[in-house]
Order: sequence, then structure tokens, then C-alpha cells
Amino acid sequence: MAEELAAPLTIEEVTRLRADFPILSREMNGQPLIYLDSGATSQTPQCVWDAEQQFYESFNAAVHRGAHSLAVEATDLYEEARATVARFIGASERELVWTSNATEALNLIAYSFSNASLGRGGDAAMPFRLGPGDEILTTEIEHHANLLPWQELAARTGATFRYVPVLADGSIDYDAAAHLVGPRTKIFAFTHVSNVLGVVTDVARLVALAKGVGAFTVLDACQSTPHMKLDVKALDVDFATFSGHKMLGPTGIGGLYGRAELLDVMPPFLVGGSMITKVTMEGAEYLPAPTRFEAGTQRISQTIALTAAVNYLDEVGLDRIAAWEHQLGQQLVDGLSQIPGVRVLGPTGVPRIGVAAFDVEGVHPHDVGQYLDSVGIAIRVGHHCAQPLHRKLGLAATSRASTYLYSLPSEVDELVRRVAEVRPFFGLS
Ligand code: PLP
Repeated sequence: MAEELAAPLTIEEVTRLRADFPILSREMNGQPLIYLDSGATSQTPQCVWDAEQQFYESFNAAVHRGAHSLAVEATDLYEEARATVARFIGASERELVWTSNATEALNLIAYSFSNASLGRGGDAAMPFRLGPGDEILTTEIEHHANLLPWQELAARTGATFRYVPVLADGSIDYDAAAHLVGPRTKIFAFTHVSNVLGVVTDVARLVALAKGVGAFTVLDACQSTPHMKLDVKALDVDFATFSGHKMLGPTGIGGLYGRAELLDVMPPFLVGGSMITKVTMEGAEYLPAPTRFEAGTQRISQTIALTAAVNYLDEVGLDRIAAWEHQLGQQLVDGLSQIPGVRVLGPTGVPRIGVAAFDVEGVHPHDVGQYLDSVGIAIRVGHHCAQPLHRKLGLAATSRASTYLYSLPSEVDELVRRVAEVRPFFGLS
């Protein structure tokens, strides 16, 4: 990870920036809140909701419709937001489609392929047509959001759904991937970072395999965009998806990156207002991307709030955040691994973000979560929307701690101290 070369944030800097997140000074169950569930959703700095409020106070109007000045101002802000966030991920503004979240972005791609397979989009959409004999490939490590859209797409088109297995330690079997990618592969969808294990995928290796056979690549960048510098062009993927609420932004906003030449000819998924050049009672012609994928009244205030979030991240510095979280992740893994009866899941010695999934022998993860909650610590328990991965690891559920730029080493220490109390608390030695 190039990010490791940057100087990490310092405790003084993190202590200072925590003041921007009022929720972090809350108490929970009589203890100072320790929020270690940023993998599920991040906390938002005040500037994010200030930006949203300012939009409603001074600029609220429907975009890309009205001719009045307020609508023009709102449209300008909406498109400036697109330009800022596109730049943040290394794309151009016509390559960023706003969606509600990563889940919708992934479904958008799948439904577009589905519509192309029905003949929609004409000859230009031919490359997106799927049918029997074609293969859609994903991996066993995926979040359900990057699994179910492909299973459904296969069911709708008659294509075959296949997946790259994970090894016993939960890492992607890259050798198996090399065998599974072949001339029939049309789509290869994989995650950038596992939401359960925090392990970073070797994207270059998988992209090279897909490119070798002319398959489209889809990168689920939901867990990477918040924590490391994402450059979609350098990664050379065809599509990438992310969610704003995991990167200091509000809920209800996410994005789909797609290469301009692909987005312009893919058939739309949702249809309706604001995405056409012409409508007759017989049919319609659609605007170019990204507008052709944004039917209906857009998510306006959310894009403006997300812009405040990415400006904040830029100001702190993604490379420094990545280095800080790399340290916290190491501290998490080292600390938890030393507790008798606690097993940290996933491979060791590979790049990972500040995420650790762990199993406390003899104690159900929900009991672990409840015990930690009773002492003010918020973590995630369950299957984390990755049931196939858990099945492979031989567990129905795990406990997961995940950090962000505002997390402190002292909080990780406290988590480790409290996890060490769990087995004795439940009468296990
Ligand atoms: N992909 C990964 C790796 C995730 O961690 C998540 C959410 O946890 C998603 C996709 C789906 O994100 P959302 O629920 O915001 O659509």
C-alpha cells in the first residue's frame, strides 16, 4: 500500500479533529462512547450537516429543470459537487453517476446489462448483452451487495454465475481466479477491501486477468474509498461503486464510476423525468451519461453534504488517514490475538485497513456485542452481509471492530481490555 509511506496522523491532530464530531463526546451506558463500527457507517463532522443545512437555508430548488435563478444556483452546486467527488476518485465528472448508495450502484450496472440483454440500447449496447454460455464471475469474499445483483442478473439472462473461492484463512484464491477467468467471462466483480476481514484485494492482479479476456471489471470500493486514496484510472477498472455514509457523508448518497465510453451507451436502469432528449407516445431518446442514469428528482442536498465530507478528507489527507488506520489495524490485530480464546480472522502479513473480525470461543457474537455495549463500546456483530464467507470460515457470525480517522489508540486498548473480560464474564476460563 503506497499509503503506508505517508506520515500517519498524530494523536494531537486526531484529538483536535475529534472536536468536529460532536457525537464522539457522547456517553453510552454511563461510559464515554467508543465508536468502533465505522465499517458499518462513519460518523459525520459538523461541516457536513452545516453544508446540508446551508443548502436548505439558501439554495433549495429542483435541479436541471427550472429556469429561475434559484434553480440555476442549485444546479450549479449539484454539478460542482459531482466535479469535486469525481476528482476525489480520479474520474471526470461525466463518469460519476449519483445513486443512493453502493447497493443501488451495483444493481444499476446489473440492470443495465439486463436491459441490454433484452435488446434495449440497440447495437451500441451490444457489448453488454449476456446470454447462455456467458459467465459472470465474482468472489466468495463479497458483501451480499456485490453478490446478489450478479446472481439475479445470471437468472434473468441465462448466463452462468461463478465465483472465485476463498482459501481456509479467508483470502481470495488468486490461483483459482486465474483458472476461472476465461473466454466466456463477461463480468468480473470483486471488492477492493473485505468488509469482514479488512484485507485489501490485489486489484491489479484481478484486473489483468479480466483484461486478458476482455471482461468488464466492477470494483466494489465501498470499504476502500473512505480509507485510502482511490484512483479509478490507475486501477484501470471499468466500474467502481461507493457509499457516502461510510466516508463522513450523509446517508442516501453514493456513486457509480463508469468509463465514459461505456456509460454513454449503456441502457438506463430507472426511467422517468430529467433524463431524456425526446419522448413520444411510442418511445424515448435518452440523454448521455451521467444524466441518463439519474431519473426523477435528484438527491441534491446529499451531494452537497458529501462534497463537504470529501473536502474534509482531502484536507486531513487520505494518505495520512490510511497510515493512521494501518497502525490502528495492526494494534487491533496484535491486541486481540493475544487474548486467550480469541481468534482474529483473516490472513496475516497482508495489507489491511483498520478492521478486525474476531471470534470469542464459546461466546455468541451477540453476547460479545452486548457486553461491550454495556461498557460503552460499539462494534458490529453478525454475518456482516457476508454469509458465504462466514460459512467458509466455519462460523455463522463474528464480532467486528472497525476504525476511522477519529479513532484513538487508547480506544483500541480499551476494546482489547474489555474483550479480555468477555470469557471470564460468561464463566469461561
Ligand atoms: N460493499 C461493501 C464491501 C460493504 O461493506 C457495504 C456495506 O457495508 C456495501 C457494499 C453496501 O453498502 P450500502 O449498504 O451503503 O449500499
